[in-house]
Amino acid sequence: MSMQRTEVVVIGSGIGGLCCAALAARAGHEVLVLEAHQHPGGAAHGFQRAGYHFESGPSLWSGLSRWPSTNPLAQILRALDQPLEVMAYREWEVLFPEGDLAIGVGSEGFESVVKSLRGTAVLEEWQRFCQVLQPVAAAADALPLLALPPGADAMGALLKRSGSLLPHLPALRHLSGAFGPLVDRHLQDPFLRHWVDLLCFLISGMPMGQTNAAAMATLFGQWFEPEACLDYPKGGSAAVVEALLQGLQRFGGSLRCGARVREVLMDGDRACGVELSNGERIRAAHVVSNADAWGTARLLPAGVARRWQQKLDSTPACGSFLHLHLGFDASGLDPLPLHQVWVGDWERSIDADQNTAVISIPSVLDPGMAPPGHHVLHAYTPASEPWDRWADLDPGSADYTQLKHERCQVFWSLLERKIPDLRERCQVVMEGTPLTHRHFLNVHQGSYGPALSAAKGLFPGVTTPVKGLLRCGASTFPGIGIPPVAASGAMAAHAIAGPAAQKQLLETLRI
Ligand SMILES: Cc1cc2nc3c(=O)[nH]c(=O)nc-3n(C[C@H](O)[C@H](O)[C@H](O)COP(=O)(O)OP(=O)(O)OC[C@H]3O[C@@H](n4cnc5c(N)ncnc54)[C@H](O)[C@@H]3O)c2cc1C
Repeated sequence: MSMQRTEVVVIGSGIGGLCCAALAARAGHEVLVLEAHQHPGGAAHGFQRAGYHFESGPSLWSGLSRWPSTNPLAQILRALDQPLEVMAYREWEVLFPEGDLAIGVGSEGFESVVKSLRGTAVLEEWQRFCQVLQPVAAAADALPLLALPPGADAMGALLKRSGSLLPHLPALRHLSGAFGPLVDRHLQDPFLRHWVDLLCFLISGMPMGQTNAAAMATLFGQWFEPEACLDYPKGGSAAVVEALLQGLQRFGGSLRCGARVREVLMDGDRACGVELSNGERIRAAHVVSNADAWGTARLLPAGVARRWQQKLDSTPACGSFLHLHLGFDASGLDPLPLHQVWVGDWERSIDADQNTAVISIPSVLDPGMAPPGHHVLHAYTPASEPWDRWADLDPGSADYTQLKHERCQVFWSLLERKIPDLRERCQVVMEGTPLTHRHFLNVHQGSYGPALSAAKGLFPGVTTPVKGLLRCGASTFPGIGIPPVAASGAMAAHAIAGPAAQKQLLETLRI
């Protein structure tokens, strides 16, 4: 049997993998993406049941509805000439121990909540903190992630690149560390500290002491913009995945779903292709793994870069998820919020299990996501469901089903506060556990990603000790979340296409 050959093989079609693949194809390389699942997109894949469009992961998007944008995903879609239809919105709801509150996106919206809950002195404390953050946010903005070179000392290289960074030098020192020390220095009020801790947790899966300051500064930077808003892609995350795929295909690249890679093939000390679980072998000059740290370790033959494999395999993991997916009849209901974030008890730590939940009803903004008069809902407990509770259970067993119903009651109790007859309204009900999450997203222990503390350093870069092998995605710099994984995909593409292609890309984007 003749062996298929291509220049670049990307293992996994997460947002990181697709960004890498599409940019490498744009730079003239022959690219094949291999995806184990039937749907592309990884954590951001969409799926359909009974006329509903369900989301498996991300619900909070930003920086996609306008240009220029500092969001690496927006920049990549632009470079691929793949416009995305995006709907902007300006309010979300929080269900806090203090009460249910609608919070406007942007400085003013939050300030009015702080003033009414905590009074003028605390409002002033918040405003002073925001002033401290502004130069840090501006410094983060001045460091376009797509301009970073793959592998090398990114920050140092960037400082050399551009005189425009000089005014930001005093603030730059904050960016590579954790956000916690900045907060500790400037915020005393418990509500403000809880709020920042929650935002950190939603971004990184870890509390503020471990969350990267650059990521938080970027988030606050967007809030300081006069017309601050959040975005939702029309058609959900599947539409983003489709846009990246179209970009890939337009430049001659291709995707195969249902193609699980079993092993990276080696030619001496160099990766030279992959073997699929059906035994098929594909040769390639460059292999890029978009699998997570643990999955990548398992793809390497025993003995190859042994110490690095062990390091990948012993990466600490964030917690996992419970999910609830519903399709329900909305007739006679008051208007529902697009997003709600619930916190049960501030005195428990923000990452404690069953203490936070995110509820997203995309059909509120995009009616096409559900049949007429109906809503589609995705609720999840972010990065806080302990894997150990589930690790040894058989998904076919009665114990598993019982525990699933018990644990998912947290969602029903919350939702029934607003819609008491919700269960009777439902046409589709799917409860998911860490085992479901691991099965469909192919991630270690159903985890959100590596629990690498920003207090200890940055995430590892996209280059590896194995020649011909690169990585991208949530296990690599700059970390977890859609904008970071898009940036890591770009960095892996730069490593393949070289500095001239990277320069051309930056010139096209004028960044
Ligand atoms: C419930 C949830 C909510 C989230 N909410 C947000 C949010 O609101 N905003 C935000 O910015 N981020 C959010 N995130 C985070 C964000 O979605 C992820 O960090 C990001 O999508 C991960 O992308 P990735 O490139 O690392 O690839 P992944 O999504 O991890 O995809 C990797 C792909 O590789 C495939 N794969 C793995 N091994 C193999 C193999 N051996 N062979 C072939 N294929 C393989 C997998 O099947 C998968 O498709 C959320 C995540 C989750 C789970």
